[in-house]
Amino acid sequence: MTIPAPASSLAAYLDATAERRLARYLEFLRIPSISGIPEHAPDCRRAAEQLAADLLAGGLEHVEVSETGGHPIVYADWLNAPGAPTVLLYGHYDVQPVDPLDEWLAAPFDPVVRDGRVLARGASDDKSNISIALSAVEAVLVTRGALPLNLRLLFEGEEESSSVHLEPWLTANAARLAADVALVADSGFFAGNLPAITVGLRGLAAAEIHVRGPFQDVHSGVYGGAIENPINALASIIASLKGADGRVRIPGFYDDVVALSDAERAAMATLPFDEEALRAELDVPALVGESGWTTMERRSARPTLDVNGIWGGFSGEGAKTIIPGRAHAKITCRLVADQDPTRIFELLRDYVREVAPPGVRVDVVAMGGGRPTLTPEDHPATQAYARALGATFGRAPVFVREGGSVPVAASFESILGMPVTVMGFMPPNGNFHAPNEWMDMANFETGVRALACFFDEFAGRPAG
Ligand SMILES: [Zn+2]
Repeated sequence: MTIPAPASSLAAYLDATAERRLARYLEFLRIPSISGIPEHAPDCRRAAEQLAADLLAGGLEHVEVSETGGHPIVYADWLNAPGAPTVLLYGHYDVQPVDPLDEWLAAPFDPVVRDGRVLARGASDDKSNISIALSAVEAVLVTRGALPLNLRLLFEGEEESSSVHLEPWLTANAARLAADVALVADSGFFAGNLPAITVGLRGLAAAEIHVRGPFQDVHSGVYGGAIENPINALASIIASLKGADGRVRIPGFYDDVVALSDAERAAMATLPFDEEALRAELDVPALVGESGWTTMERRSARPTLDVNGIWGGFSGEGAKTIIPGRAHAKITCRLVADQDPTRIFELLRDYVREVAPPGVRVDVVAMGGGRPTLTPEDHPATQAYARALGATFGRAPVFVREGGSVPVAASFESILGMPVTVMGFMPPNGNFHAPNEWMDMANFETGVRALACFFDEFAGRPAG
């Protein structure tokens, strides 16, 4: 048995090894693991193998580069804390393409350290979070010989190209992935560099509406007045989807929405958020939406329905006197817990059929979707992580709900049946997916200490 070392030796170790940590992180950033571009497949594999080698060197066990049919998944664990909780930590080693290259201040895969920032593709999303996790685990294992809890690490290489092989892999490996909680380390801080924990993510339900009128475009003088116009019909269908109050009028649409508590609404109202700046940035005359809810609530904790595209008929230069034969629209709904994408699609389909005017045929086609997620703020892992952030960054984190989706979070919930906390250390304005992606190295270093502290907090290990 290893004699527990005082916590100060962990701190001393971390202080003494910052340079080495940075060097390894920069080495990782030099691998152009762009998952969406086939020529980079060997680079994705190289990143996976490098990661596996680092995990092995860091003291992790059962390290494996697991084949998926696409880019491999890297798995490792450390399960020698019987009776202690088990955490499954997820990250992704693949990155987005780098275009437009001429807007980068330095080559995207030749990382530059300047003014406390590292500039490179993947510097924040998501190689920062992976490197932080690896560093925290390694530091605890080196200084104490053991982790206070059980840990499984799972790093995929296809997050930026739709995670096509992740769900089948999770399903096939579900039995050996058991854990009390999944930490999805693919997120970051809130505006103004506030430590943040993402407790809610919206889901999605997508559909297309196809309206068919006459067998082809026909003369509007000869037939106008005798038949329904598919574009007019589509417009009336779309107009009936939402009321003037911004509420979706589909019966049952809101039935499964988990209500925001008064405390959650109060906390959300305290988040730093400049409505006027957002309005100006978007160059719109006003911010509008569902009545009764604030802008912050509407864009993160309430469901939406939006038309994404509409087409049909003649849109070329000049006039063309036709009644079009077809009209089409694409629609997506952003969903919140506990709305089910399939159920929402069915409600939409039935309502569209009901409100469609006579004289046209209407098809509503499902175009996929994903489930929303919601982690209770009082979940022990969330609370432990909040305490760790507070202790290391010196300020309590904010709990936020993201308006977008992180499909893997829903996969962990639905396939592995475990609660999910979405976390990470990326700067809120870190240019992910864009030119000049960067990471704040002070946050990187404090992040390593925060994760190490989280392990103790969640395990209930006394401080010191
Ligand atoms: Zn990411």
